[in-house]
Parts: sequence; C-alpha cells; structure tokens
Amino acid sequence: RQEAVAFPPALDPNEKALVDSFANTSIATWSYYYTHGAHVAGTNKTMAQWTADRWAEFGFSSRLDEYYVYLNYPVSNSLQLTYSNGSIFTPSLKEDVLAEDETTSYPNSIPTFHGYSFSGNASAEYVYVGRGQQVDFNRLLALGVELEGKIALAKYGGPFRGLKVKNAQEHGMIGCVIFSDPSDDGNITEAKGVAAYPNGPARNPTTVQRGSVQFLSIYPGDPTTPGYTSKEDSLRADISHSTPHIPSLPISWKDAQPILQALNGYGTNGTSVNRTGWVGAIPGVTYSTGQGSPATLSLSNLMEPEIKWIWDAVGIINGTNQDEVVIVGNHRDAWIVGGAADPNSGSAVLIELAKAFGGLTETGWKPRRTIVLCSWDAEEYGLVGSTEWMEEYIPWLKTAAVSYLNIDIAVSGPIPDVAASPDLHAIAIATMKKIVWPYRGATNYTMYDVWKSESGHVGVLGSGSDYTSFLHRGIAAIDMGAGGGANDPVYPYHSNYDSYHWMSTFGDPGFHTHKAMGQYLTLLLYHMVNDAVVPLEPSNYGPEMRTYLKALNTTLASSNGTLDIGPLDSAIGVFEAAAGQFNALRSLAVNTSNAELLTVTNHKARDFSRGFTSQGGLPGREFFQHLIFAPGMDTGYAPVTFPGITEAVMGGNFTLAGEFVEKTAQAVLVAAGMLKT
Ligand code: GLU
Ligand code: CA
Ligand code: ZN
Ligand code: ZN
Repeated sequence: RQEAVAFPPALDPNEKALVDSFANTSIATWSYYYTHGAHVAGTNKTMAQWTADRWAEFGFSSRLDEYYVYLNYPVSNSLQLTYSNGSIFTPSLKEDVLAEDETTSYPNSIPTFHGYSFSGNASAEYVYVGRGQQVDFNRLLALGVELEGKIALAKYGGPFRGLKVKNAQEHGMIGCVIFSDPSDDGNITEAKGVAAYPNGPARNPTTVQRGSVQFLSIYPGDPTTPGYTSKEDSLRADISHSTPHIPSLPISWKDAQPILQALNGYGTNGTSVNRTGWVGAIPGVTYSTGQGSPATLSLSNLMEPEIKWIWDAVGIINGTNQDEVVIVGNHRDAWIVGGAADPNSGSAVLIELAKAFGGLTETGWKPRRTIVLCSWDAEEYGLVGSTEWMEEYIPWLKTAAVSYLNIDIAVSGPIPDVAASPDLHAIAIATMKKIVWPYRGATNYTMYDVWKSESGHVGVLGSGSDYTSFLHRGIAAIDMGAGGGANDPVYPYHSNYDSYHWMSTFGDPGFHTHKAMGQYLTLLLYHMVNDAVVPLEPSNYGPEMRTYLKALNTTLASSNGTLDIGPLDSAIGVFEAAAGQFNALRSLAVNTSNAELLTVTNHKARDFSRGFTSQGGLPGREFFQHLIFAPGMDTGYAPVTFPGITEAVMGGNFTLAGEFVEKTAQAVLVAAGMLKT
C-alpha cells in the first residue's frame, strides 16, 4: 500500500453514511433482476419503469423520457464456406447453450448479429484483413492483395467494429465477417491449459461478440436525426454516410478456425510487409492474407428496419442551486438476456447509489446542486438514448451542467480504470483514496493504491459509451469501470455468457468489486453536488494540453510536412495565465467567505470548458465539437488529442492542419476568456 494514503480511509459522517449504505447482497439482487430479461433496445419498457420506480422509492422524482428512433433487428442470417473441391463448411453462428448458465437457454435470446448492419447478401472469395484499420488495408495494398469485390475477414479488437466494416466498404469489399481471437485473452486461454467457460475462466470457443457497426466516429445517436432529437414527427436523414452498405456478421473463434485455415498457404505470412498484430492464437491457423485462395464465403444478413420508441429513465433530486446540475448516467439495454457486466453492473450500482442518497436525504441533507440520474436505452446501437436526450435538453445542459458522470461496465474484473476530462482529474483521484478496494483476496488496500500500482493514469476520453455527446458540448465528463488484466477471467463481452452465472462465478463472486465501484461513484457524486466549491480544476487543462502538444510535435516530426503550431502554443500560455488568475480569485472567495464571489468562480468552473467547443466541429464530423480531444476517426474508441490538427497531419493535409491550429488556438482562448477575471 502507498504510504501516503490513510487506511482505513478517514470519512466524514455523510461520506460514512453513504458508503455504509452499500451492501454487496442487495447489489446482487438488483443484478439478478436486470440479468434475467429482454434488453435489446426498444423492447423492454417494463425494465425502464422498474428502474424509475426503484429510484422513486428512494426519494427521486422519476419519469421516462421517450424517443422515436431508427433501429434494426435480425430476421435471419447465414454463412457458408465453400472449399475449392466443392465441399462445404457451415458455421453454427450460435453460442452453445449451457446447462450451468440458465439464461443462455432463454427463448427470447437473440441471434448473433451486428446492430445497424446492412441487410443483404454477399458471395465471393475472401481476404484476411487483420484488425481492419486503415493501416492494415495499406499493408494489404502494399502486398498487392486484391480487395475489390471480395469479403473481408477481420479480427476483433483495436478499432470500433463499425470502422472495420467502413474500411472494408471503402476498399470496394462487399461483405465483412469479424471474429474473436484468443490472442486477446492474455494468459487465460485453453492453449495455456486453462479450462473454458463454464468449467473455467477461459473464453468459451463459441463466444460471439455482437455489437453495433454504426460509423460512430462520424456522429452518435439515431443515424436518421444527426444533431437533433428524434421525435415522432422528426425529419429523417439519409443514413448512408453513417451506417454500412455492405452486410456483416460477427463469429466465434470456433467458427472462424476452418475459414482462416482455408487461407493457410495463400498470400504472404508477412515477411516483406510489417503485419504487426495480425497473427492471433487460433490453433492451426497461419493468418495468411489468403491472396489466391479459391475458397469462397456466402454471407446472408437479413435485417428488419423499424422506427421504435425507446425509454430513458430519469430520476431527479433538486438542489438548492438549480442552475447547477450533475448528471449520472448508465445504459440499460444489452444485446443479450444477461448483460451482467455490460451494462447491468452499472445499472445495479445506480440503484444502490439511489438508495444511499435516499438514506442521506432522510437525515435532512439536501444537495446544493441538482442530481439527475439517467438510465439510457439503445446505447448499444450507437449511444442513442443519451444522444437524443442531450439533443433535446441542450439549452438547459449548456447553461446548467456542471459534469456528466458515466458508468457502463462498472465491473468485468478487479482493476479500477478511470478516464476523464482534465478538470475532473483531481476529484477523481482524491475520491479513490476514500474507498476500500477488494483486490485478489487482500482487504487492506484503497482504490487509490490499486489504481496507482496498476495504471496510475487518468485516461483521455474517446468514445464508446454515453459520455460522448455531453463531452462534445463542452461538459466535464468522467467514465469509470473495473476490468480484468492478463491473468484474470476472460470477460465474454457482448456474448450470452456475460450472464449472472459468469459474474457470480468468475467476474465478481460476492459482488464486492461492484460495491467498491458503487461507493466510488457515490462519493464522487456527493462531492460534486455538496461541496461549496465546485470540485472542478480548470487549471489542469494546462499541463494536459502541454502533454498533448508534445504528442503533436512527435506526430509532426514523423510527418513529411511543416506546420507552425506557435499560435496554439501561445494560446495555451494565455490559458495557463487565466487559470492562475481564476485560482487566485477562488482562493480569495474561500478565504473571505464571499458567497457571491464563490458563485462567480463556481460558474466559471462550470462554464469555461464550453469554450473548447467549435460550432463547426471537426472536419467531416460536425457533431464532434470539442477541439482538445475526440474519438479517433479510424479508432472510434481510442482518443486523439488536438484531433483537428493531428488527424490532418496524419492525412498529410497541412493546409487543413493549419486551419485547425487557428481554430484550436481560438477555442483555447475562448475557454481562457471565460475563466479570466
Ligand atoms: N458501447 C457500444 C459498443 O462499444 C456502443 C458504442 C457506440 O456505438 O458508440 O459497441
Ligand atoms: Ca438525433
Ligand atoms: Zn455498455
Ligand atoms: Zn456494450
């Protein structure tokens, strides 16, 4: 344990009341409820109402906010491999039903498919395209591999799956099949002697990762209503720029094995062109590109488009300062009946959080700032419930939102992980020191101890969960969760095996990590809504932007162009000076107990980050307005810093890069201006 951190943590009476209210057993009860029902977006209003009802029981005023959105559902799909001699292999496209895991046999379990996938057929020879990122396609082109008219076979992992399909489509390919690979499972694999689920913690070979193939780095939300909210009478936009127009399917490594094996010996294994990350760990597979292989795939993906109601549950406790609001969100929809980790570890935690705050209000406590709890629908299709809600309430949110706190996969393993906008780093780290974190049998660590030794770094937000639309309107945001390392049970993401049985047997037996994660979110929320001084630290954007500037210089050094980033450098200098003035003014307000002045500085802390956003957004994707960080155009999940500049440099467009130096510097100056006194 880190010497500097007190153990057990010293808590004030309110903190103690909140933390003590958490019980692992009741979290298990909420988890059991959430993991035994239908979850696919737009199919379970009862679960939305149940959530709102629990929050109401704990004193929140609750309601359902409904949106009318485009979704599509699987009707039937099939895949067939035909060898050159005419013989055929037919993948099952199914996950095994397990006697040990009751929800895998539920009748309403839905097939393996891709949300927002294109309805259609494709029959052709196929090519192994690695992770399916642009860099992978560039390697294929360098190798002279023919792509036009072929089907792409891509490995899961790395970029968001929808971008793999997008890249395949942009290279003239006519279908895309994406498989899971045990090489992403660390040391917990059958090849290393570990038994597979349900007998052990390794991946069951039939595990399939469902998921959306929307092009999420263009814009999130209902693809038919970019930038505005989906109502019954909303105009519906063309979706062909934000969803695929080639069919795709996800498959297990068991189904992928013969398909990959049919490519063995065809095309290079990568001696002349760097193919880092291509070779996986499926037995008997060489991960050849397949150039020249006569084997073919026939893929059929029949989807039914619908415009349907979805339901966001919303629960509110009004604060004394109603122009200061803190939003806490977690999604409720899943691809499967279980979803014990994704998203129901988060959903269970939010019920327990509501219970804790309900208990505290009964003692007479009232939040200074308004608390808004949200349980989003349709996150899985593309952050739909949260984005439509943000688009509806944006005038109010721009005025009043202090922060958005996101929890999605609260627990899929024992290691805490946090990503946040720079202004939230200090409170995020300070709160870790107040939480006892159960860790591989030890009971004398704080969350901070474990986090410090495992990562010690607050990440930059990219995308992939519901914080996205808030962050890109300039609202401070944080995302949190606990995941597994190379020696922890393999988390069956978006699979039927992400079930209550998996969670209680392997993921978090006893739900102790759930409890600790929930206590963390609860204390973080408590300080955000309770403290006289809004616990945001604008000045931390200074050192963070300096770090991003260094990264930009490195990117520039390895490019073959020149760019004057002087204007951005000096804008950061202006920001640092303004942040210094802000800190001095805030100290004065605190030291002189000047409530009026403190309101001024609290509102500056709330508002300054709106300045980092630009109405026009990033090139080709105006939804993404934050100019300091964004999901990478070709990563989707992973962030890019100074995205307008960095991506233009990476694309060799130095004119555009120059424009974005100006725009980004301008945004930094606007943020500085809002902070200045
Ligand atoms: N979290 C979901 C996923 O990773 C949805 C992400 C998105 O569409 O933005 O598949
Ligand atoms: Ca919309
Ligand atoms: Zn999720
Ligand atoms: Zn998910």
